[in-house]
Formats: sequence, C-alpha cells, structure tokens
Amino acid sequence: MLELHCHTTYSDGTLTPQELIAAALKAGVKALAITDHDTLAGWDDAFQAAADTPLEIVPGLELSTVYNDRSLHILGFYPDRAKLEPPLQERIAGRHRRAREMVEKLAALGYPIELPSMSGNMAPGRPHVAAALVKAGYVSSNQEAFTRWLGERGPAYVQYDKFSAEDGIRLLLDCGAVPVWAHPYLFRGGTVQTILPKLVEAGLKGVEVYHPHHSPSDERKLEEACEDYGLLMTGGSDYHGPASAGVNNSVGLNQLQVPLDLLPPLKAAAAALR
Ligand code: AMP
Ligand code: ZN
Ligand code: FE
Ligand code: FE
Repeated sequence: MLELHCHTTYSDGTLTPQELIAAALKAGVKALAITDHDTLAGWDDAFQAAADTPLEIVPGLELSTVYNDRSLHILGFYPDRAKLEPPLQERIAGRHRRAREMVEKLAALGYPIELPSMSGNMAPGRPHVAAALVKAGYVSSNQEAFTRWLGERGPAYVQYDKFSAEDGIRLLLDCGAVPVWAHPYLFRGGTVQTILPKLVEAGLKGVEVYHPHHSPSDERKLEEACEDYGLLMTGGSDYHGPASAGVNNSVGLNQLQVPLDLLPPLKAAAAALR
C-alpha cells in the first residue's frame, strides 16, 4: 500500500533512510514518501537504498509553519530540489537556533542537557530535546518530557521562526511541490472548517485525510471537504521509527492501508506545476 508521511534520522525519526526502506519493504509498502521536517537531506540515501527494489520513493518534506500562533504542518510532494533547498537552509538554521533556545530554557529551569551534534542539513526538533531529557534521567519517556516541558504551551517550548502557512504554501508551489495540509485535526489554532478555506485560497492542493490521530469521523469529514473543494487526498502513518524507541507512534508502517490509487492524482498535480 501507500505511505505518504515518514520521518528519518535527518529530522526526528529514529531510523536511517536505509533502515526505513528495509522496514517498508518488509511491511509490504509499495510507495513510500520521505517527508522529513524542513529538510530534503534524506532523499539521496533513500533513493540509493530503494534502487533495485520494488519500492517506489516519493520525494517530499513536511514544512513547519505558524498559523494563529500555533504550528501548522504542510507536506510538499515532488519539489524541485535545486529551487527549494536554498530557502530551506534558512528554516533549518532556525530549527538549530530554536533547539538551542529550548536547551537554554531547560537549563534555566534546572534541567541542563546536551544535544547530540547535528550537521547543517539535519533538522533538529523537540523529540531530540525530549530524548536528551530522558538520557539525562530527568524523565522516563519522551512523552513525559512533552507533557512537562515541551508541549506547545509548555515552559520550555519555543515556536518556530515566523513563517506563515500561506507563505509556506506559496514557497512549495513556487518550487513545483504539491502542498498538502498535514494532520488537520492535530492543529490547535482554529477549526478545520474555518482554516481550510483560507489555505485553499493560498493555493493548497490537498489534505492528509488518513493519519493515526484522525478518528473515522474526522476522516469522513475530510473526505467530504476534499470533494467540496476539489482537493487531493493523501495519507500516511507519520512514522518516526519503532514504538520501542520511545516515539509517539500509534501505528506501524503500512497499518493504515492507504490505497495506492491516491498516488497517480498526486503525480498528475505535481506534473501540472512544472
Ligand atoms: P517540532 O517540529 O520540533 O515542534 O516537533 C514536532 C514533532 O514532535 C512531531 O512531529 C512529533 O514527532 C513530536 N511530538 C509532537 N507532540 C508530541 C507529544 N505530545 N509527544 C511526543 N512527541 C510529540
Ligand atoms: Zn516529527
Ligand atoms: Fe507533523
Ligand atoms: Fe510528521
């Protein structure tokens, strides 16, 4: 089946692209999108690892934006890498600064930690900070670190650099990528009903309907909205690695059973942007 939302060690996933591809093949995935937060750095390893296998790689990313002061994620599929990588450098640099700021806040709260060193094309995120808090022995799980300090209203939380969802959608379109609103029902800054029309006006092309945090009734509502607005539907498990690694995965690879026939319309939309 189809997996259109996965993370690797180039952002906050716990599997390398090679390990992710091996796991996807084992789980029976036919086409797998690499959608790291704000970076395309995992693509090369993924394409290399999937060559000579039946697995199709869908190149993508998950762009972090801010809407109504809350984080809003937009998936982008099939971007023109040469065009998108330069503006992404700024976003990634912002993530490195933000990670340092969260570390400073935690130190001020009495919980000094050290983050593992990360190269310039890797995108640090809150799960890295959470893992360092676990490693230091302050909490027993990443989840606990989020509950105590790192949640969106937590005492060590730092928002992303200012970057609106509309600007994010425009950037993706400019770079030939199909913009899709990731996990709309995880958004905390307004209702799907009110936000979706605004994003469509900015050029949004699709919605991630199938996601582990969506209930069956959320999925029905999003299917209807896609029909009403003429939007593409996507889905994926937002896989960050095996649950044993202390990550917030509720389902494993391929468990959502996203139908493969969602892929051709996505490809057609990407071709139309070129
Ligand atoms: P960031 O982009 O740095 O704000 O981190 C967002 C990532 O943190 C998400 O993609 C998840 O992997 C993870 N995450 C968000 N909320 C939680 C939570 N409550 N518990 C554990 N992980 C979370
Ligand atoms: Zn993540
Ligand atoms: Fe996300
Ligand atoms: Fe994600």
